[in-house]
Parts: sequence; C-alpha cells; structure tokens
Amino acid sequence: MKSGGVRLRFMAQSNGVFFFANSFPRRQFTYSMNLILFGPPGVGKGTQAVRLAAAHNLLHVSTGDILRTAIAEGTPLGNVAKSFVESGGLVPDDIIIGLVREVLEAKDSAKGFLLDGFPRTLEQARALDNLFRELGISDVQIVMITAPDRELTDRMVRRGLEQGRADDNVDTIRHRLEVYYKQTSPVKEYYEKTRGVKQVDGLASIEEVTERIEKIL
Ligand code: AMP
Repeated sequence: MKSGGVRLRFMAQSNGVFFFANSFPRRQFTYSMNLILFGPPGVGKGTQAVRLAAAHNLLHVSTGDILRTAIAEGTPLGNVAKSFVESGGLVPDDIIIGLVREVLEAKDSAKGFLLDGFPRTLEQARALDNLFRELGISDVQIVMITAPDRELTDRMVRRGLEQGRADDNVDTIRHRLEVYYKQTSPVKEYYEKTRGVKQVDGLASIEEVTERIEKIL
C-alpha cells in the first residue's frame, strides 16, 4: 500500500467537541485541564486547589496567596493591596487582572492551570474571557464548592486561630461574606449562562470533597 499520499489527521477532544488537529493553532491542543475553583471564603478552595493541582500537574494560581506574599515582602503590589486584604475588601480590578494576565502569559502553554480566588467580580470574569480568547484557551471548567455561612464562619475562625491570618477575625469574616454575596456571586450566574458551573457540596471531609470534585471533572 502506498502510504505517502495518505494524510493522517488526528483528533483532540475538548469539552466533548472533536477538533481536527491541523485546523487550529498548535497551542490550543492541550491535553491537560484548566479549572476555575469558585466559592465563598472559607469553603476550602485553597485546600482543594493544592490537592487538585498536585494530582493533575496544574499551575495553581491563588490571587490571595500572591497578595499575602507580596504584603509580607513589602513589594509595591503588597503595599497597595495591604489595606484592602486586611479589611476584607477586594483589591481593585485593574491590579488583580494585570496580575493574572502576567501569570497566564508566562505559563508553559502545555500545562493546565487552576485559578483559585479569581475571578471575584463580573469585570474580572469578562477580562478573563478576553484573555482566554487572546491566548487561545477554550477548555475551562468552573467548579463551585458550597457550604452554609455558619460553617464558613466557623472554618475561618478556626483557621485564624491556627494560622494567624489577619483577615480571619469575626468582623472581617462578616465583611468578606457580604462582599462575596454582593460582588462575587454574580460571577456564578455569568458562568451559568456561558460556560456552565459544576457544583460540589463542600460539607464533608477534605478527602471526600476532593473525590466529589474528581468525579465531575
Ligand atoms: P483569599 O485568600 O482568596 O480568600 O483572598 C484573600 C483576600 O485577597 C481577599 O479578601 C481580597 O482582599 C484579596 N483578593 C484575593 N483575590 C482577589 C481578587 N480576585 N480580586 C480582588 N481581591 C482579591
């Protein structure tokens, strides 16, 4: 059989849709996954993010961790962010969007990512969609972890005692929950209308919640 004339076309699957490999730019062919972990403060996003990123070799991008490190090191970003973070308010959108842009632009394009704590406003979600378009990223899953407010407050108070986080005190926790419902929860509706949201009940052990997430990925 003459093989030279046969043009091999392999296919890649993304979100259940098959694409022919030679009809798209190469960087869209990632076999890794991209996740946005969404949910209220104290629900366990950070804990689950570390476990999922390790299991799937994802770049874990926690805007909260980046800001806390910048504050501890006294960098210009940290100096600007400090009062917002410590009062439980949100750091201005342009600063945080610029930060995530830098991280995603510098990322190895073959490696998937996990966003933890971003986006937190509609403006951030829209800017992120534009960035995904620019970078040719289309396969992104949104996972939302839920828990009742009482449980969230208890967990954050406990974390404050164990880790000494400046924003884990009762007054700031109350404010962070208000900020979440007012400014961040509309992001869930935005994604429900666009990409879809996979919801997981976070009221279980750390291991059980990881299993629940793994099942729906
Ligand atoms: P986290 O560790 O995700 O709970 O974030 C801690 C704090 O960092 C928040 O209460 C905000 O002050 C700030 N922060 C983290 N991510 C963002 C974001 N995407 N937009 C604005 N502020 C943020």
